[in-house]
Amino acid sequence: MARLIKLDKDDTIKVANKMEEYLTPDYIYIPFPPKKEDIKKEKYIKKASLLYPNVYAPLSGELVKIEKCLLPNGKEVNCLVFANDFQEKMEKIVAVRRKINNLTKETILEDISNLKIKEKFKKESVKTFIISGIDDEPYIENEFFFQKERIKAIVETLDSFSNAFPNATVLVAIKNTDSETILKYQSILGMYNSIELKLVDDLYLIGQEEFLIKYLHIKEPYIYLKSSEVYEIYINLKKRRPILEHCFTISGNGVTKPIFVKTKLGVKVVDILYKFCCEDYSNCVLYVNGIMQGRRMDVSRLIVTPELQGIVIMKKLKRKAKKCMKCGKCISICPIHSNPLMAYKLGVKVQCIHCGLCSYICPSYIPLQKYLCGDKNE
Ligand code: SF4
Ligand code: SF4
Repeated sequence: MARLIKLDKDDTIKVANKMEEYLTPDYIYIPFPPKKEDIKKEKYIKKASLLYPNVYAPLSGELVKIEKCLLPNGKEVNCLVFANDFQEKMEKIVAVRRKINNLTKETILEDISNLKIKEKFKKESVKTFIISGIDDEPYIENEFFFQKERIKAIVETLDSFSNAFPNATVLVAIKNTDSETILKYQSILGMYNSIELKLVDDLYLIGQEEFLIKYLHIKEPYIYLKSSEVYEIYINLKKRRPILEHCFTISGNGVTKPIFVKTKLGVKVVDILYKFCCEDYSNCVLYVNGIMQGRRMDVSRLIVTPELQGIVIMKKLKRKAKKCMKCGKCISICPIHSNPLMAYKLGVKVQCIHCGLCSYICPSYIPLQKYLCGDKNE
C-alpha cells in the first residue's frame, strides 16, 4: 500500500459554500477538432448542435473569428469564437425526462455512447461500481459540491446501475470529514439497499483511482467514476441531452470571495474572474487545477473545458530555494517509492505521477517537480 499522508492545509483559506452561475457570456471559444475535416462550415450554430464528435454548441450564435487560446494543460490551441445571440435557439434533441431505474444495461450503454466515460463501461464483467466524491487537491471542492448539490440525481443514477448490473455492488466513497454529505446520504440511502457508503480518511491522493482502490481493498473487476461523471451520465440518461455546462472552483488566499461556478463550456476564465472576483492579482500566483498537481499559468487566454477543475489564487511567497541539505524527505514521502533527488541531482528521468509531494515536503523549498516533469513552470 502506498504511503498516503494528510496535508497541512491553511485553515484560513475558505472554499465556496454556494454555487454561482455564469451562463450568458458574450463569447465562447471552441477548440478546433483534432481532424481538420470536422470543422463546421456553417457560421451560425444552434445550442446543443453537434459541432464535431463529442462536442456540442453551448449556446446559439454567429462565428466571428478564430483566436489562439490556452487549455488547462497549458497547450495553445486555435479556437472558433462564437458571439452569443442570447436567443438560446436549440437544436432539436430528445429532451424528455424519463424514469431511469428500469433501464437495461444495453440502453445505458447506448445512451452514453457519445461520452468519453463510455470507455469505462467496456469491461466484460463488473462486480463493483466505485463512486468517488473525493477531491484530489487542497482548496478545490468540485466532487464535494457535486455530492452535496446533486445527491438525488447521483443516487437515482446509481440505482439505475444496480438494476442494470444486478450482480454488482455500488460503493460511494466520501471523506469521513464531510459531515454534511454523510448526513444527507444517511437520510436517503435507507430506500436503496444496493448502495453502500464508504467513509475514507482525509488523505492526499485518496481521490485518485489507483489509491482509492487499494485503500478499499477492491480486488474484483470494477468501474470507477467520479461523482461529476455520474452526474454527466444522469443528464444523458434522464434529460437525454448533452452536457453544455461545466463547474469549477475558484479559491485561494488571494481571493476574498471564493466561488464554485457553473458556466458554459468554452467561456474565458478571465470573464468569470472579472464578474465574481474582480481583484488585482499582480501579487498572486494562479494555479490551474491546484497547487499540488496543477500548473502556474497566466489565465488571460485560458478557456473552460471539461478538464478544468479549479483556479487556486495564492499570494506570492517571498522565499527562495536553498541548498539541498540531503535530508531525504523527498524520497521517503514519494507515494510510488520513486527518487526525486536523483532527478534533481543527476538530471535523470524517474518514475513520477506528478503528485507534488516531494516539492511540498522539501525544507529547502526546491521545486523538485520542475526536474521531474520537464514542462512544469514552477
Ligand atoms: S511528484 Fe513524482 S517524484 Fe515527487 S513525490 Fe510525487 S510521484 Fe514522487
Ligand atoms: S527534501 Fe529537499 S533538502 Fe531534503 S533531500 Fe530532498 S531535495 Fe534535498
